[in-house]
Amino acid sequence: MSTVFVVNSGSSSIKYQLLDHETGERQASGLIERIGEPGSFIADHTEGMQLVLEELGSGREIAAVGHRVVHGGSAFDGPTLIDDGVEAEIDRLASLAPLHNPANLLGIRAARAALPGVPHVAVFDTAFHQTLPPAAYTYAIDTELAARYDVRRYGFHGTSHKYVSEQAAVLLGRPLSELRTIVLHLGNGASITAVSGGRSIDTSMGLTPLEGLVMGTRSGDIDPGAIFHIARQTGMGVDDLDRLLNRESGLLGMTGSRDMRDVQDAALRSDAAAELALQVWRHRIRHYIGAYYAELGGLDALVFTAGIGENNALLRRRALRGLEHLGIRVDDDRNELQSGEARLISPEGAPVSVMVIPTNEELEIARQAISLVG
Ligand code: ADP
Repeated sequence: MSTVFVVNSGSSSIKYQLLDHETGERQASGLIERIGEPGSFIADHTEGMQLVLEELGSGREIAAVGHRVVHGGSAFDGPTLIDDGVEAEIDRLASLAPLHNPANLLGIRAARAALPGVPHVAVFDTAFHQTLPPAAYTYAIDTELAARYDVRRYGFHGTSHKYVSEQAAVLLGRPLSELRTIVLHLGNGASITAVSGGRSIDTSMGLTPLEGLVMGTRSGDIDPGAIFHIARQTGMGVDDLDRLLNRESGLLGMTGSRDMRDVQDAALRSDAAAELALQVWRHRIRHYIGAYYAELGGLDALVFTAGIGENNALLRRRALRGLEHLGIRVDDDRNELQSGEARLISPEGAPVSVMVIPTNEELEIARQAISLVG
């Protein structure tokens, strides 16, 4: 029995896949949307899950259900068999991810009720980064306050960073334990991770996914003083500022579009705002590459993944241009080859192997779920 049911539950949606954890073969996938919204015929996640299971049909043998959970705080450093206690802990951590954890829990509860005889496993976006050393995860604020409210850096996209850094070792045919790797996950959300011997040692997202790179709608790094200044000048409250920085900033705030394809098109038409946005985007990426190069003490592999990283050769080249002195080189022909496969885009024999590796978070969740339940 090798079929795993992978569930990614949002506040009004259930995204799912049924896949073989050994071959990666996808047997079914889908998305149920508008759960509980006005005019929708799906009242709640319980009904949504019933619909999903009807679509999948009966008589399938499922070895495990893998649930994507965004925030595992400091409590979870790997895949975890879900029981009532684990549900309660995910609920407690909702203060750290108020939009995501409660939504993930709705899916967990609905799926556990619908499939009571199958093991349910939580796979956390934060888990891979639990290996960060204290120097990398500690914010320089009052220690007691930080401890009381769990204020520290956690990092996200961990499932993707883990999968991609392991695939990099496979592609290179070298042991993971000896590789120093930087993974650039560049999608609508974006983060960069330094992986040493298979362990995450630093990552750009923090307590929440707001820190770090310039994203579709998130600002990434910003002086907290700038936020106080904006608050004082405008009278905006905490929720307004949260919306401003999470939903109205980044590429959207700078150009009017959150989609990198629009920004790039506008820049090609010499739109000054779009060109500046690309420069800021690139500047931030290189800032982190330099920092992680220093932290890793050198670099063997640099990997692009997710929507922008997998699909945009021009932006990959642009991001890395001028880093040749670090051994980071891109071969234009290899880079421009369109492919859905994991591939090398640096020239033969270059000191740093630059790669494009399509991420597959569902497969990683399935594998981790099986690794736990056998
Ligand atoms: P998410 O981050 O939402 O999980 P993806 O990793 O698939 O999703 O990234 C989606 C984003 O990738 C889109 O919002 C789009 O901006 C960007 N994207 C996809 N293809 C391209 C491309 N060819 N060029 C630039 N950006 C792209």
